[in-house]
Amino acid sequence: MIKSMIRFILLIVITLTGSGSWIQPAIFRDEPAIATAVVDPFITAQTIAMRPDYVTDLTYQDWDRYTIQIQLDPAALQLSGNLTVRLTNRTTVDFDTIWFHLYPNHPDFGGRLDVTSARIDDIPVSSRTLHNDTLIGLQTPHPIAPGQSTTVTMTFTARTPRNASRKSFGAYNLEAGVWSIASFYPMLARYIEGIGWDTRPIVSRGDFTVSAIALYDVTVEAPVDWQLVTSGSQLEQHILADGRQRVRFVSGPQREFYLAALQGLVATSADVDGTRVISYVQANDPDAGARSLAIATTALRIFNQRFGAYPYAEFEIIQAALTQFYGMEYPGVVLIEQRLYQRNDHLLETTIAHEIGHQWWYGLVGNDAQGEAWLDEGLASYSQILYYEMIDNLTQAQAELDAFRAAYRRLRERGGDAPLATPPSELGNGRYVPVVYAKGALFFHALRQQIGEAAFNDFLQGYVTAARYREIAGPDLLRAAEEACACTLDAMFHNWVITAEPVTIP
Ligand SMILES: [Zn+2]
Repeated sequence: MIKSMIRFILLIVITLTGSGSWIQPAIFRDEPAIATAVVDPFITAQTIAMRPDYVTDLTYQDWDRYTIQIQLDPAALQLSGNLTVRLTNRTTVDFDTIWFHLYPNHPDFGGRLDVTSARIDDIPVSSRTLHNDTLIGLQTPHPIAPGQSTTVTMTFTARTPRNASRKSFGAYNLEAGVWSIASFYPMLARYIEGIGWDTRPIVSRGDFTVSAIALYDVTVEAPVDWQLVTSGSQLEQHILADGRQRVRFVSGPQREFYLAALQGLVATSADVDGTRVISYVQANDPDAGARSLAIATTALRIFNQRFGAYPYAEFEIIQAALTQFYGMEYPGVVLIEQRLYQRNDHLLETTIAHEIGHQWWYGLVGNDAQGEAWLDEGLASYSQILYYEMIDNLTQAQAELDAFRAAYRRLRERGGDAPLATPPSELGNGRYVPVVYAKGALFFHALRQQIGEAAFNDFLQGYVTAARYREIAGPDLLRAAEEACACTLDAMFHNWVITAEPVTIP
């Protein structure tokens, strides 16, 4: 996400202690074997969602699997459907409750998501909710032992607001021809070994979703005059008798499944390294489609080279009414604030580069956005600089860097500095953006200066290779950087991430 720069102001002094690290270090252990044979029918269907060279990623792990069927009623702003999740207990403890996030029940969404029935292994189960219905816990009919798989089935209904982006989350809203229905389904919470289920209340500041990779097979029924855009690829479409369509989408290993229905937008597309890139823009600005497509294809190509391959067959970018923020990332889809397309400055280009950076930092390499937001936001922000460097616009690369320096300097002058590991919940009073984005980006610039260009490039590639499809924490990033430079970075990490030492601004 990119927030408005207005939030850089209004800083006050707050002293913070401790690390915000909530997720235990997870990577560089028990690397799963990469299977080569794709024989499972569920997996076979998913292959169209991957670039051909990355089809084997589907069997990288025995992913949890969602099968969702929903019916959309855009006129009533409602959807209803059912969901089946086949999940495996990958922990060392029995599950007696399985928790799901119901994100749309958070007040910021301005809508609703209600579970109307629930079964586990075909047995009706009781449930309870937490934090104003933003979490639902299903009591298992029998303990789910470590290594055991189970099947959860739910029926649910949801509704979104309309024209609400000025007061609520623009990605769950119908406005300007885009019915964006982010996080519309019960989403499995993460279980952290040694800690338990992630049942924390949602913090409004920053991104909401904290989830693990899964495979999705989603069938959507909707009126035929609505264009469906999702995190997956379209497997089949049937036109029904009553002016409706039934479209089935399958995904690669994705961190969540995004869905939007569009009306009146115009699509332009291009191919990048085997990925179909599609830009949807409002019909009143014919140049906007070509311009945003050119930026998106360039960013994807550059980041493929710099970070490692984006493995999916599709990527979509949608002009949307976000109003309170510039851009929002989902797996395989990004939303860009509509007004940026009319500007004559670099904000559209910068925002697209940032959100596409998130396809690696958040999408492929997961982290606790509600606890250590700097891990994805810092690196997505630094990706803006890498993008401009790689298209040889060194002036703009310098301008981006200078903006982060200025924001962080102002934060320090006001006594608002904080460790990068500070959870967003503790970064009130206008400190979230300058700490997580500006100081976060500057950390990566300092790291690059300290370990040198070659080691920094090795770090970026090695980090993605080791951490893709996983969820990492700060110490995992430290370890990846130390492996790349064959050096010790404890002091730097301590000063930037764990404490708020007055570091030299790079
Ligand atoms: Zn972001």
